[in-house]
Amino acid sequence: MTINILFAAKAERWPQYEAPLTKALKTAGLKGFNLSTDIAPQDVDYIVLAPNGPVRDFTPYANCKAVLNLWAGVEDVVGNSTLTQPLARMVDHGLTQGMVEWVTGHVLRHHLGIDAHIHGQDGVWRKHTPPLAENRAVTILGLGALGTACAKALVSLGFDVTGWSRSAKDLPGVRCLNGDAGLRTALETAQILVLLLPKTPQTEDLMNAARLALLPRGAVVINPGRGPLIDDDALLEALDSGHIAHATLDVFRIEPLPPEHPYWAHPSVTVTPHVASETREDTASEVIAENIRRSEAGEPILHLVDRDLGY
Ligand code: NAP
Repeated sequence: MTINILFAAKAERWPQYEAPLTKALKTAGLKGFNLSTDIAPQDVDYIVLAPNGPVRDFTPYANCKAVLNLWAGVEDVVGNSTLTQPLARMVDHGLTQGMVEWVTGHVLRHHLGIDAHIHGQDGVWRKHTPPLAENRAVTILGLGALGTACAKALVSLGFDVTGWSRSAKDLPGVRCLNGDAGLRTALETAQILVLLLPKTPQTEDLMNAARLALLPRGAVVINPGRGPLIDDDALLEALDSGHIAHATLDVFRIEPLPPEHPYWAHPSVTVTPHVASETREDTASEVIAENIRRSEAGEPILHLVDRDLGY
């Protein structure tokens, strides 16, 4: 029997994914599949989904067994009331490794004070020795697939790493905290703060004025998670007062970040255009294929989203 797999992302994605997905489905041992951008809804067995793609109403896909998201973040689909099928999010080696590299690079930039040498090419011999990583406290909010991988990488470089998550965790070398008291400690000790939480009703505006005030004076905020994790006005105020020394922001409430947004011109803000990490076609295709293989074999699907928690 043919397995009908609908690829439902923006049209320009299809040429990038057609070959790797076909290869991964074959490698996973799936025979007799039909992978296409055009399948009659009632015949679709699986939807490979980008939430900004063409499928917004899942009602006609009555026989669909699972929706497989190409993105790690599911905030644009998790609340869709027409979606009754299981929803899996993307946990992909390429996505994780990309985030580890981006976070490590930006943490090291601030830890080493690299900017002083890049911007200070003026003949002044500014000798400044940064502390060792073991004397630099880095806090990561969110210890999921990405936060955990980043925490491990920073621990391996010697940083003093604290992590915070909803449920209790035990990661070697990481001070793992949870709950409100844990968040307070995680913030009070953070010289560099990395946000790797999903956007949910519970995490929106988590970094408000009161929580930014808990950070030590001169702390740096790095946000590759989601824009709404931060109250933008509160962050701008904290930057203007010097309480926060710098913010490196990859994600925003509105993307692309509008040209008139104060972040662009602020001397203490670095804007990166949502490039911290991308789903990689080859490795993501393997994850999609493995989940279809599992579903067809009656095995549990990986990386299922908890619809109540929203991630
Ligand atoms: P994940 O595996 O689902 O991990 C989410 C983490 O956040 C978990 O540790 C979870 O706690 C914690 N969390 C969720 N709600 C919480 C709450 N209310 N209080 C405390 N902790 C909470 O997600 P991921 O794969 O690591 O990805 C994280 C986010 O990164 C994505 O949702 C996406 O927004 C963002 N992202 C950005 C880019 C980019 O290019 N900028 C790329 C990929 C992903 P538990 O462990 O206890 O469940």
